[in-house]
Amino acid sequence: MISFNVPPFIGTELDYVKQAIDAHKICGDGQFTKKCHAYLEERFGAQKVLLTTSGTTALEMATILCGLKKGDEVIVPSFTFSSTATAIVLTGATPVFVDIRPDTMNIDETKIEAAITDKTRAIMAVHYAGVACEMDTIMEIAARHNLKVIEDAAQGVMSYYKGRALGTIGDFGCFSFHETKNYSMGEGGALLIRHPEDNDSAEILREKGTNRARFFRGQVDKYTWVDYGSSYLPSDMNAAYLWAQLQEADLINDNRLAIWNTYAEAFAPLAASGRVEVPTIPAGCVHNAHMYYLKLRDLQDRTDFIQYLKDKGIVAVFHYIPLHSAPAGLKFGRFHGEDRYTTSESDRLVRLPLYYGLTQEDQQYVINTALDYLHKN
Ligand SMILES: *Cc1c(COP(=O)(O)O)cnc(C)c1O
Repeated sequence: MISFNVPPFIGTELDYVKQAIDAHKICGDGQFTKKCHAYLEERFGAQKVLLTTSGTTALEMATILCGLKKGDEVIVPSFTFSSTATAIVLTGATPVFVDIRPDTMNIDETKIEAAITDKTRAIMAVHYAGVACEMDTIMEIAARHNLKVIEDAAQGVMSYYKGRALGTIGDFGCFSFHETKNYSMGEGGALLIRHPEDNDSAEILREKGTNRARFFRGQVDKYTWVDYGSSYLPSDMNAAYLWAQLQEADLINDNRLAIWNTYAEAFAPLAASGRVEVPTIPAGCVHNAHMYYLKLRDLQDRTDFIQYLKDKGIVAVFHYIPLHSAPAGLKFGRFHGEDRYTTSESDRLVRLPLYYGLTQEDQQYVINTALDYLHKN
């Protein structure tokens, strides 16, 4: 059977996890966490990066640090993972869903302005499949209306928009290192902070409301409870696993890109004939091969395709049920404007197996099987 995903494993992970254990430092902010922070800041040109326990908790930190509260509104696509919206709902604010663009499946930047009210406080940009949203337009709208911008770059680690790393463009950026993402630590994530004046509040929020980080740096002579907080820092054992992956970040990225490009080549003729649609990478975007998807004719075509692959031992999966039509979306949010693409495009989308180490042989089998179906139907 060919899985949809296999968590990335380089080979040095166990050695690093053992080093963390041997150093008698398995709680948060140990040597491996510090290495990961320094690497991510340097590589992506981020002012400050803090590892978190998940992409979801990075998003929660961002919404809390933006000062969102009950009655506020946040503009967000409906075609995204639940975490994007739960981080908004957690603060008491209301997610206001707008439609996506069919080419990238990202928020349609031309639909944002009409959804702004006097309660709007932020825009949440989700970089679907590691392909950037139209950030210049989004940042310009935000500046004009005095809104915060949070980038959900959970899928966008190692992706760029006009030369800038995803996650570093908005006020806050959020990465995920879940096992389904390009780089992993089991469960984990990172918060990227754009403005230095947010650093202290972020550290306090992450460390149970204490000024412990300042204490360790010798900036205060005792540490104490200073503000609202939670525990958002991951164990150094998880950071050790991630550190092994980050050291080989280019190897992983190159391998994924090669797989992605092989899919792109294989399906180009069927895209040209109109049998399927394939991902679009707009000019100025460098992507990280997080995902390769096809869009079939309709829901029935997709269901048949997934079943066909399954019968031949291949796992291909779809997502997302648009949040505005999910039970919690109906309860907590609302859709602004027309749902022209969100529902219809999500019904047609299917993701093919893509992970670090997928063999050429296995990929060829996936391609041949998919082509069999597409030529027959
Ligand atoms: C994976 C993902 C998340 C959540 O990340 P976790 O690390 O699983 O909490 C949030 N948003 C998007 C778009 C994701 O793909």
